[in-house]
Amino acid sequence: MTFANRFLTDDEKPKDECGIFGIFGHPDAAQLTYLGLYALQHRGQESAGIVSSDGAQFHEHRGMGLVVNVFGNGELEQLNGHLAIGHNRYSTAGSSTLQNAQPFVRRYKMGPLAIAHNGNLVNAPLIRRELEEKGAIFAGTSDTEVVAYLIARSSQIFPEDKIADALSFISGAYSLLFMGNEMLIGARDPYGFRPLWLGRLDDAYLLASETCAFDVIEDAKAIREIEPGEMVIITQEGVRFVQIASPSHPRAFCIFELIYLSRADSMVFGELVHRPRKEFGRQLAREHPADADIVIAVPNSASIAAKGYSEESGIPFEFGLARNAYVGRTFIEPSQKMREFMVRIKLNPIRNVLEGKRVVVVDDSIMRGTSCRQLIKIMRKAGAKEIHFRVSSPPNRFPCFYGIDTPTHKELIASEHTIEEIRKYIRADTLGYLSIEGMLSCVKKPMNFCTACFDSDYPIEFNGQDAQQLSIEFTKGRDR
Ligand code: SF4
Ligand code: MG
Repeated sequence: MTFANRFLTDDEKPKDECGIFGIFGHPDAAQLTYLGLYALQHRGQESAGIVSSDGAQFHEHRGMGLVVNVFGNGELEQLNGHLAIGHNRYSTAGSSTLQNAQPFVRRYKMGPLAIAHNGNLVNAPLIRRELEEKGAIFAGTSDTEVVAYLIARSSQIFPEDKIADALSFISGAYSLLFMGNEMLIGARDPYGFRPLWLGRLDDAYLLASETCAFDVIEDAKAIREIEPGEMVIITQEGVRFVQIASPSHPRAFCIFELIYLSRADSMVFGELVHRPRKEFGRQLAREHPADADIVIAVPNSASIAAKGYSEESGIPFEFGLARNAYVGRTFIEPSQKMREFMVRIKLNPIRNVLEGKRVVVVDDSIMRGTSCRQLIKIMRKAGAKEIHFRVSSPPNRFPCFYGIDTPTHKELIASEHTIEEIRKYIRADTLGYLSIEGMLSCVKKPMNFCTACFDSDYPIEFNGQDAQQLSIEFTKGRDR
């Protein structure tokens, strides 16, 4: 992905790697998977795919782009069967080619196996190297292929045991779906970095990254979250749960799911995302009050935190920025000059709202700081008298290795600059970030959360390598 495209699509935000959806036991399995992926589109926009099974064979389709484009030409009709899994991809590991689009299908002695993965496997490059030294050949660069290989190599007898065996070698963040001709399996890593939910629709069972994928299907209901270190096995006989890691294993739920990544109407980590997201805004108002006339959000992702800030501070909430919802799908390569205008294409200040006002602007994160700087510039041009920039998460200082695509250590503005330096760079009158303690006071079980991108307290060891070094290794081979 070129820088230009990243800039357009991402607005500098961290991105979730993927959205996954699976269904067992419904005649319209592929159609429902399509709906589920549609609802999970925010988790990945580079490619989409669905693999279905009619019990005897697989039917597959994948493509680059949004779900609606990939399945816009009658492809769904070819995807027969009562079982399906689907995937929205935003690549972090492995380049973003069609070859790496998921679900991933491999044939081994137990028959065909489809895999859809959300997360990132920290030790996949190491395992891959070891396997290659023993003669393995890999088709793509995705870490999911390593899982497939480990499954095929397992000496266990039953598919579910082969999968559990393979997972025991793997370290990192994963919510995974596996599909054979007669089974659907979901697994969540022992830390629980990424969410995974079980749902039901009549006699059919559903699995999805977030419950918003169930909400779009009439009569589908969320049953419960798959526990960290748990595997759910769905077959003709019904559902079984198997614990593949100790329930007392430390947890590391990604707090960015609550800050920005997951949809506010989804259940994630045991509760509706809306609640903590609004609390972040309230806490931010307590920590960084401002003398101001209005509170506005950088739409859309910071709207709920901004509302929280407004409620807590008593400063009225206003819509001060209009967002062009269609930006982010355009593949153009702008010049340096064009790049500066990009933020204008995406966000346009509403002059009547801003003119002569002291404005609190709430955003959910600052990565590189460049689009934030542009935004403040155009808001001042639109007449804002003062700009008090507030961020509903702590300074993002360290890269993520668990399935969220953040800029590298060097590119993160907070990694090498103080808050005051950032304030000067973005040209805000004041700048305030939510504290780590404040953020954790808004969630139910703070000790269960990963906060590594703020404090470098990485839950998984990297064989002594420091974060910066790993970041360099890790981003090699990424086309960014
Ligand atoms: Fe989430 Fe940050 Fe941890 Fe990555 S490092 S899993 S983005 S909290
Ligand atoms: Mg995404």
